[in-house]
Amino acid sequence: MQTRGYAFFSQLDEGSEQMQLLAMEQADLSKKPLYQDSEGLALRFDGASFIRDAQELHHFYPNLSPAIRSALVFHRCGWFRTGEYLKSMLFEAMASRFTFARATVEELNWGNSKVTLKLDDGTAIVADKVIICAGQYSQALLQRIDINLPIAYESHSKVVLPDLSRSLSGMPFSFYADTFELNFNAEELAAEPALAGLQGQALPGHFHVRENWSDVLGEPSVQALWTYDCEPMDEPHPYYPDGSVTHTGIYTKMPDNLPCIGTLVSGKIYINSALSGFGYMFSQQASELIARHCMDDGDVPTIFDPLRSIDTIGDSLSPHRRGQM
Ligand SMILES: Cc1cc2nc3c(=O)[nH]c(=O)nc-3n(C[C@H](O)[C@H](O)[C@H](O)COP(=O)(O)OP(=O)(O)OC[C@H]3O[C@@H](n4cnc5c(N)ncnc54)[C@H](O)[C@@H]3O)c2cc1C
Repeated sequence: MQTRGYAFFSQLDEGSEQMQLLAMEQADLSKKPLYQDSEGLALRFDGASFIRDAQELHHFYPNLSPAIRSALVFHRCGWFRTGEYLKSMLFEAMASRFTFARATVEELNWGNSKVTLKLDDGTAIVADKVIICAGQYSQALLQRIDINLPIAYESHSKVVLPDLSRSLSGMPFSFYADTFELNFNAEELAAEPALAGLQGQALPGHFHVRENWSDVLGEPSVQALWTYDCEPMDEPHPYYPDGSVTHTGIYTKMPDNLPCIGTLVSGKIYINSALSGFGYMFSQQASELIARHCMDDGDVPTIFDPLRSIDTIGDSLSPHRRGQM
């Protein structure tokens, strides 16, 4: 596990202003400290730092492009090997009182005091309470009980490349916050004519990279991820892994970029979904929140209420809030 934080970088005045607003909003929401400039350039494990002193920024992160002028670093973040983590969770669950069923839920009904899940193997599970956590397929299940949440889908790609210059050594999970255009030179286009179709294409911000320990290419390597299609799609797509180094998948999220964690039908049906952008690390906390709530042992913060009014969040559809932010 790495605890180097998440850092957003911008070379634009506009990007810097947006990061400052976001930093203040997050400090207010989380009630955690917001450090400014040099006080933020330290190894920390809590709060966030907003840095607009470019000289100090480049001194602290020497591999950054000289064009970068400001940064917003969230300290209480990191990354881990998800495969290993999921395996350890599975073993722990198997050693406890869990019962596993491997099937697809095709129908969801509720009535009287019970919720019924009909599975594709012809069996059914009848329960007092059900938590829907079906990722990009949550909405399809909700439609069975006539609930429509404004869940949106974005395409998201991941590629693992060799890190020949070790440029990410010691860096946080790094996000380029600005939008950018793909521009290939003549030599690159001659070597790979297919790139011509991408020439000049504008990509949304939040392309992000981190050091990687994947077995795919061996060490060291760079894992790069980006959301390349920010327009919500009508339908979710199935995952379609392409070879061993590139994966494309679906980011499932609400327009305000906050997950759905809470009650849908009082005392019966709950949801823990639209977690994209929050990832595996937050999903653990989300699961604990909803499990406790479901067992009447705690409340979930109202900002995650699945039935919240999205209209009340003024800039929710701003393109700058897409991707990871
Ligand atoms: C390309 C890509 C790269 C990513 N990389 C990272 C990363 O490096 N780090 C990180 O933290 N996050 C990453 N994420 C985000 C992360 O995958 C999500 O935040 C996380 O998986 C969301 O968890 P979830 O439990 O809500 O949904 P999911 O992980 O999608 O889990 C939903 C589960 O429900 C099951 N299901 C769906 N419908 C049914 C049904 N009808 N019956 C039974 N089961 C059903 C599915 O099979 C699935 O197992 C990435 C996402 C993408 C697309």
